[in-house]
Amino acid sequence: MTLQQEIFEQIKKHQRIIIHRHQRPDPDAIGSQIGLAEIIRASFPMKTVLAVGKQIGGLSWIGEMDTADDDDYDDALVIVTDTANPPRVDDNRYTNGQELIKIDHHPDDDPYGDLAWVVPSASSSSEMIFDLYHQFKHELTLNAKAAKALYAGIIGDTGRFLYSATTPHTMRVAASLMATGFDVTAVNQKLDSIPLSVAHLSAYVYQNLTITEDGAATVCLTSEVLDQFDLKDAGTAGVVPLPGKIESVVCWAIFVVQRDGTYRVRLRSKGPTINELAKKHDGGGHALASGAKAKDLDEVQTIQNELAAIATAYKKSKKE
Ligand code: AMP
Repeated sequence: MTLQQEIFEQIKKHQRIIIHRHQRPDPDAIGSQIGLAEIIRASFPMKTVLAVGKQIGGLSWIGEMDTADDDDYDDALVIVTDTANPPRVDDNRYTNGQELIKIDHHPDDDPYGDLAWVVPSASSSSEMIFDLYHQFKHELTLNAKAAKALYAGIIGDTGRFLYSATTPHTMRVAASLMATGFDVTAVNQKLDSIPLSVAHLSAYVYQNLTITEDGAATVCLTSEVLDQFDLKDAGTAGVVPLPGKIESVVCWAIFVVQRDGTYRVRLRSKGPTINELAKKHDGGGHALASGAKAKDLDEVQTIQNELAAIATAYKKSKKE
């Protein structure tokens, strides 16, 4: 039996299925979670399916979270989507079910679950959920709500088909999802629009970026900066891709102050691998999109230096 067949057997076997995803969810976390929940609900109306985790206002248009009681975990199948490491799972009751399945597209540095289906080459976890549906489509139903959630996840994680994980398969999956008839333009516009405060912060980011000669860009969003634009950490996601638009930039880090005075580090790259750097600083992620933590401004400086060295080594390797 393939992994996907084993997962499908577990879905068929369990009466109650609880689906988790990672904290601070992005469209792929919510999209893969809601997409899977909707596919199972539409295909097996007698089953109870709960999508759990903190409700994030800005993403509730993809789908609402459900409430699970502790008792709901007895005999339940728990599936965690889009989450590489156990500490990042939203709602730590995820281990309380009868069976645990991990479905994810991040590098499998921290395996967990009775079954783990991990495809780092997939553009997104939402693409994987579509693949699962497609493999068993004679027994599963994909409605427009599920398709919209999965499409949102794919365009979220690929930067609307810009990043290198976008494959011909990704485009075919997106086409199949679009064919279900949800309002594609509305989803594209929703994920493309930003509040005015974020537009102002974008101007700040471009004005205040430090760019090394070899193309490492960094900017630090301190509490003074966030207060100036009346934004909190969660509101800064829209500026993360911006430095990559600059021709000379090959990799970049955006440091965002947290309530406890530490810094969240959001690392991105157009070429050199940056997840090894992330791992050195209590983080991880994909080769070209990672996250880490800096306990103070000294560690921020260390990461800036390390990123600059990565850009320099990359430039050198390109010349050779
Ligand atoms: P972010 O900058 O938070 O959007 O994260 C980019 C990628 O890095 C995501 O795929 C996350 O799963 C991963 N990531 C972010 N923070 C961490 C962390 N502290 N530990 C492990 N992976 C992380």
